[in-house]
Amino acid sequence: MQTINNFINGTYVPPLGGQYLDNYAPATGALCGRIARSGAEDVERAVQAAVAAFPAWSAISLDQRHDILRAVADGIMQNLDRLAEAESADSGKTITTARTIDIPRAALNFKFFATALLHFASESHHRPDALSYTLRQPLGVVGCISPWNLPLYLFTWKIAPALAAGNCVVGKPSEITPLTAALLGEICNTAGLPPGVLNIVQGLGPEVGAAIVQHPKIKAISFTGSTRAGAEIARVAAPMFKKLSLELGGKNPNIIFADCDYEQMLETTVRSSFNNQGQICLCGSRIYVEKSLYEKFKKDFVERVRLLRVGDPASPESQLGAVVSKTHFEKVLSYIDLAQEEGGMVLCGGRALQFPGTQAGGWYIEPTVIEGLLTTCRSNQEEIFGPVATIQPFEDEADAMAQANDSPYGLNATIWTSHLQRAHRMAAALQCGIVWINTWMLRDLRTPFGGVKNSGMGREGGWEALRFFSETKNVTIGLG
Ligand code: NAD
Repeated sequence: MQTINNFINGTYVPPLGGQYLDNYAPATGALCGRIARSGAEDVERAVQAAVAAFPAWSAISLDQRHDILRAVADGIMQNLDRLAEAESADSGKTITTARTIDIPRAALNFKFFATALLHFASESHHRPDALSYTLRQPLGVVGCISPWNLPLYLFTWKIAPALAAGNCVVGKPSEITPLTAALLGEICNTAGLPPGVLNIVQGLGPEVGAAIVQHPKIKAISFTGSTRAGAEIARVAAPMFKKLSLELGGKNPNIIFADCDYEQMLETTVRSSFNNQGQICLCGSRIYVEKSLYEKFKKDFVERVRLLRVGDPASPESQLGAVVSKTHFEKVLSYIDLAQEEGGMVLCGGRALQFPGTQAGGWYIEPTVIEGLLTTCRSNQEEIFGPVATIQPFEDEADAMAQANDSPYGLNATIWTSHLQRAHRMAAALQCGIVWINTWMLRDLRTPFGGVKNSGMGREGGWEALRFFSETKNVTIGLG
């Protein structure tokens, strides 16, 4: 049984209230540890440490800041096995996913922003009578709040640019997956990050998360999570005029035309539907297929999905592991029931999976494909965030666009076609922040990342992130 404490001022400390939450292993359903159930007093302690560390950290040379953040990246890769095992055990994702995607990307986040800070520049505007230039200065203390689906990957995607821009951070990982964030503290100490620059407070969203959002000395909130929590954070933070970056839910369309590269599309669509048990905000959960291709796609897709091996996340043989929690397991199964009540037909999957032995209590769900649903029904409008994809035919480009855009969400869309003009035309008209054409989840960390509508506001990535974590000031000098 592991006890996970807070990381404040470079030291692991128990919560001041002395309370803990239970932590469960998704693969077995068993209690595996306890997590600090922190409160506003722990956030206060973290903010004080961050405020004290800020003058020195913001004044350190860019070279030194680069070297420390680069050392954090190296430290993450030196701990690859340990972090991957922890991430897999904590979240139910397969060890392969943790080892090849989550942890390397967490290291890359630090590496990328360590380098980016050396190249971050600002504008100057010249005219005969005046010279204006722009200062981009660190904000001070910022709050970073992240979800459970890509725990260390998304936590570091916020922390790395915040630190690179010269801020100190009070961070909160999800209470469902606290482990790798806790280990990050140790790695930061080894890398030479000064105490107080990064503080990690564990606990519940409405308690610790809310205290971070409400704290007057925390100048910006970078949040990734549900639309519901995002709306609550905006309600509290907006009247305090905090900078806000909200990366929220998605219900992404995957639009497949008959003229696509069929094999590449099929292989990618299996991944884009079921990677990480469908628990990636970028998964394409609504699949729209041109009518002439529909029956062939349906047969081939279902055949491939049936071959996916679901099992013990710790086994390298497993392609899908367990979903993250009992609550989430029940939610996903209830949506499969709802889809059938709404007239959907389950083509494969649809049930919980039972394994013998230690896995017997684990939260496993068969990868599920459903057809026959209207775009307007709840199962196609609400985020399920599990191993469930719906397929539906479309008549033509206009019909595909109308169905794809008929959603309260707007994170990303995928288009499969070899028709160049159509691809660009649709990319411009789709209501979302990210469009992939003939690929999926190909990430270039320099590109802007984020959504529209209920998928959030603001953009992460590249200069966008460094600008978010900076205050812009214009200075004008009169010349005559
Ligand atoms: P969640 O909103 O329940 O929790 C996310 C984080 O916010 C957790 O750390 C939680 O403790 C905290 N939190 C909850 N309520 C809070 C409050 N009132 N104030 C402050 N903090 C609060 O989301 P989740 O279930 O952990 O994650 C799944 C959701 O995240 C899905 O909707 C998914 O689409 C979304 N997501 C979005 C992206 C993206 O980039 N847009 C990426 C990954 C996940």
